[in-house]
Amino acid sequence: MIDLGRDSVDCLVVGGGPAGLAAATYLGRFHLSAVVCDTGESRAARIPCTRNQPGFPDGIAGADLLHRMRRQAKRYGVRFDEARVTTLVREDGRFRADTSGRDIVTCRVLLATGLHNRRPHMDRRLHDEALAQGRIRYCPICDGYEVTGKRIAVIGTGAHGVREAEFLRSYSPHVTLVCADGPHRLDRLARERLTVAGIEFLDGPASHFVLRRDSIAFQAGDLWVQVDSVYPALGSDIRSELGTAVGAARTREGCLQVDAHQRTTVPGLYAAGDVVSGLDQISVAVGQAALAATAMRNDLSDAGVARR
Ligand SMILES: Cc1cc2nc3c(=O)[nH]c(=O)nc-3n(C[C@H](O)[C@H](O)[C@H](O)COP(=O)(O)OP(=O)(O)OC[C@H]3O[C@@H](n4cnc5c(N)ncnc54)[C@H](O)[C@@H]3O)c2cc1C
Repeated sequence: MIDLGRDSVDCLVVGGGPAGLAAATYLGRFHLSAVVCDTGESRAARIPCTRNQPGFPDGIAGADLLHRMRRQAKRYGVRFDEARVTTLVREDGRFRADTSGRDIVTCRVLLATGLHNRRPHMDRRLHDEALAQGRIRYCPICDGYEVTGKRIAVIGTGAHGVREAEFLRSYSPHVTLVCADGPHRLDRLARERLTVAGIEFLDGPASHFVLRRDSIAFQAGDLWVQVDSVYPALGSDIRSELGTAVGAARTREGCLQVDAHQRTTVPGLYAAGDVVSGLDQISVAVGQAALAATAMRNDLSDAGVARR
């Protein structure tokens, strides 16, 4: 461990979702000192029950999975700080991270800060209740299976909306694409593709969402739509700002650019999970975290600081 002062650690992990927690366990087991700073807004915490995690044939609630992963990292001495990293600065080859409570100095930082899904215009409490009941869903790859044969509305338009609706069409013949904010922005080809696939498309705005006992209903313009589940396809905001603040390059979509070992373009700075480009899945986040943590360890070793 490098002695850089009272709040010095070998590695800082920003984000305590699946990526950050998996990396933390690896770092602890490499005998490196690590701190995880986390504001507790993991997307995984919102999963009522994930059914595509290898090793959990009956599924597991996202909050339970996070709890287990946290416990596992703690077992190897990883420290946790429920704090937001507000600033990241690179000075003399080291990083200084400011949190609400204190400063942390380190040589290696993993950004596992995830992303934020854009939501339809609806009351926040209603949204969260609908999410918990599976009436609102955000990830067809994760839970499309659960809506097999059901009535599905996709809120979106343009290429992204069409792609999501077409994806869901492989689970159900009852898919409707509704524009969130007014008339659809679809060219002739897109309309033809939807028609051929048997996907109905309705202009918005999508509004007045109501949770019913066995369904969710909302207005699409002047029409009422009642379905089993709604998939917003409104894009997302990538939480990459700490990386860009120290000069890390981003992809066109706004994700942090990384090499095959999860190194960003800034020496000593790594990234894993939804904040980098790829399939936004827990298993992918965990795999990237394993790569990142091992690269952090090996890069520290090359610098001669990982010996006991
Ligand atoms: C409703 C829903 C259902 C899903 N279902 C599945 C599923 O069944 N299977 C599957 O594989 N995937 C599923 N996903 C996707 C999965 O949740 C994500 O791919 C996964 O959580 C990504 O992990 P992550 O660690 O990269 O990011 P996150 O889990 O989002 O964690 C990021 C963490 O970083 C913290 N953070 C951000 N900025 C800062 C900062 N500046 N300082 C401190 N902390 C910060 C946040 O508070 C958060 O805790 C689902 C997603 C949603 C929304």
